[in-house]
Amino acid sequence: MEVELAEALGRVAPGQFAMLSPGDGSGPLIPRPFSVYDQPAADRLTFLVQVIGPGTQALAAIPVGGSVLCTVPLGNGFVVAPAEREVVFVAGGVGSAPFLLYGRERLRRGGKTTLFFGARSAERLYDREAFEKERLPTVYATDDGSLGFRGNVVACVADALRAGRVGRDALFAACGPEGLLHAFARFAREEGLDGELSLETYMGCGYGVCNACPVATEAEGPLGGWPYAKSCLDGPVFALRSIAF
Ligand SMILES: Cc1cc2nc3c(=O)[nH]c(=O)nc-3n(C[C@H](O)[C@H](O)[C@H](O)COP(=O)(O)OP(=O)(O)OC[C@H]3O[C@@H](n4cnc5c(N)ncnc54)[C@H](O)[C@@H]3O)c2cc1C
Repeated sequence: MEVELAEALGRVAPGQFAMLSPGDGSGPLIPRPFSVYDQPAADRLTFLVQVIGPGTQALAAIPVGGSVLCTVPLGNGFVVAPAEREVVFVAGGVGSAPFLLYGRERLRRGGKTTLFFGARSAERLYDREAFEKERLPTVYATDDGSLGFRGNVVACVADALRAGRVGRDALFAACGPEGLLHAFARFAREEGLDGELSLETYMGCGYGVCNACPVATEAEGPLGGWPYAKSCLDGPVFALRSIAF
């Protein structure tokens, strides 16, 4: 979905998101959060939207030229790692969205970067051509084996790690459905990997007012001192060591 903004924006950081709803009020009262997928111009953003329930159905029904309420940019986003640090992206389904901007920035800066992109089947590796066009080194994983590694994306990363195709001291950045993030967080902790997670927490407002997106934090971590962070303001990107996930 491409949105033309009322005014130009500065560069959006990978992992920052927007709250979107139809401008004519035809959708649910509460807007829905989406990672910024691409920024083709200062006043244009694209989003990769998987249609699942009433909010995304209402967005998909907006005709070309129709209006959208778009609150952006929200959240912290990923800090793009310096070229000296290897980066491994771990994406499940539309969790690939923040990695187009992040991948492009890494390719510009240099440094080894690999996208591990997993889904149930090849046709659910949505818009994978966009990553191929950027020439971002990509490893596919599908549950049914229809493309690339047969199995989930965490097993695929584990396989690459064992074979030495990615380094243990890389920075791992993961985004996707909650089940995948839990599995990846468990795996990363067992293996002693350093990483960040972009959470797809349910949200109401997107800018810290409604308190609907609490994330439990580790007392010893950088967000310690208070047992919860707000995913919309303090996240949606969190260091693995900072959240009790
Ligand atoms: C920061 C952020 C970035 C996101 N980026 C994208 C993106 O780039 N592309 C994209 O397609 N989606 C993205 N999402 C998820 C998207 O916001 C939800 O899919 C959307 O809100 C669903 O709304 P809906 O009304 O269509 O479905 P709902 O009726 O709200 O949900 C349908 C069903 O899906 C499940 N569900 C929906 N949202 C979530 C959730 N957040 N966590 C767990 N289960 C859920 C529930 O089981 C629910 O019953 C992102 C979410 C966050 C927080």
